[in-house]
Amino acid sequence: MSAGTEILPAPSAARTEPDPLTHWRAVLARMGEAATAAGRDPSDVNLVAVSKQQPWEAIAPVLTAGQRVFGENRVQEAAARWAEPCTAIPDLELRLIGPLQSNKAVDAVALFDVIETLDRPSLAAALAKAIQKAGRAPRLYVQINTGEEPQKAGALPAEADAFIAAARRDYGFKIEGLMCIPPASEPAGPHFALLRKIAARNGVQRLSMGMSGDFGTAIRFGATSVRVGSAVFGARG
Ligand SMILES: *Cc1c(COP(=O)(O)O)cnc(C)c1O
Repeated sequence: MSAGTEILPAPSAARTEPDPLTHWRAVLARMGEAATAAGRDPSDVNLVAVSKQQPWEAIAPVLTAGQRVFGENRVQEAAARWAEPCTAIPDLELRLIGPLQSNKAVDAVALFDVIETLDRPSLAAALAKAIQKAGRAPRLYVQINTGEEPQKAGALPAEADAFIAAARRDYGFKIEGLMCIPPASEPAGPHFALLRKIAARNGVQRLSMGMSGDFGTAIRFGATSVRVGSAVFGARG
């Protein structure tokens, strides 16, 4: 280091806004600690960085630093933001984590590598049709409404087995995983345990569960991917 640079403050010290890169590294470290504490291999848990409603200035440094899996909850917003980066960065993986209307199935199939919110027969039919037309098949997760909240998307726990079986039988879907969003007002652990139980009895391998506030708990309950937004990028606008 030259004498001249020694007296300059580190760039991050002068910043008051959140620093996504620092937060991203901290989240990865906490994920690793949670996995190790649970006796799991840290490499078995992936970070889905939830970039919905975040400014590109917050996303770009994390993308540059090597984050490759991003979650979005709206098809149009995601397409506007990611269509170009997707062609430039072949190993970028985009995941739809928000509810999907059947009339957007074609656009969703064209853009996303993973759709985590398959939750009803009409959407399964629309996706099957879109996949056949596009000659491109996103990997699929079934969303389960573990808290049985009326306003929330997801198949009900009692309907999950039949729905998964029908999706496999009627469309040949390979269901990669299950996803849930526990009720905000309840401890998340029992919901994560329920999702794991439904996955186990249906022979489904992967679990998308855990967000900024509870990803450590989710990893303890077997999450294979966590969806973390605000803890990486800061509060949404
Ligand atoms: C927004 C969102 C997240 C991320 O939430 P944070 O609390 O910001 O980490 C995760 N999953 C889903 C389905 C979301 O819609």
